[in-house]
Amino acid sequence: MREPYRRRRIDSPPRWTRFKPAGIPRRRLAQTILSVDEYEAIRLADHLGLEHLEASRLMGISRPTFTRVVEKARHKVAKSLVEGRELIISGGNFSLVRTLFRCRDCGDVTPGHSESKPAACPECESDDLEDLARRVRPNDARPTGETKK
Ligand SMILES: [Zn+2]
Repeated sequence: MREPYRRRRIDSPPRWTRFKPAGIPRRRLAQTILSVDEYEAIRLADHLGLEHLEASRLMGISRPTFTRVVEKARHKVAKSLVEGRELIISGGNFSLVRTLFRCRDCGDVTPGHSESKPAACPECESDDLEDLARRVRPNDARPTGETKK
């Protein structure tokens, strides 16, 4: 039975959304798009080393779905590394639990919520803070094959 459509829960936006091989102009590179939910699956399973069951619960999806997502994500990362592609983290089916504010002056990153942006960086007191949630947008479309009832 198909799971009911719902957005996958992501803890916070990725700090970096573009990676490329050094020294090669972007126009000469093929691109791979890693969705934000695929990024989160790699972060939970491979960076934090969580079991798939625990990671799937954090994202609000079933364990088999998590396993499919993380396998697809690993394939994309491997393809980018081996073939020297530009890797862009963008789109996907997700909602953010919180955001991160990055200071454009010192680079410090502070968790928070978009509705209550801090007035200043806790590290250097600069007011030039970027809301990283604004760099990633979920796709509006429902997954392929999903129909409204
Ligand atoms: Zn700062």
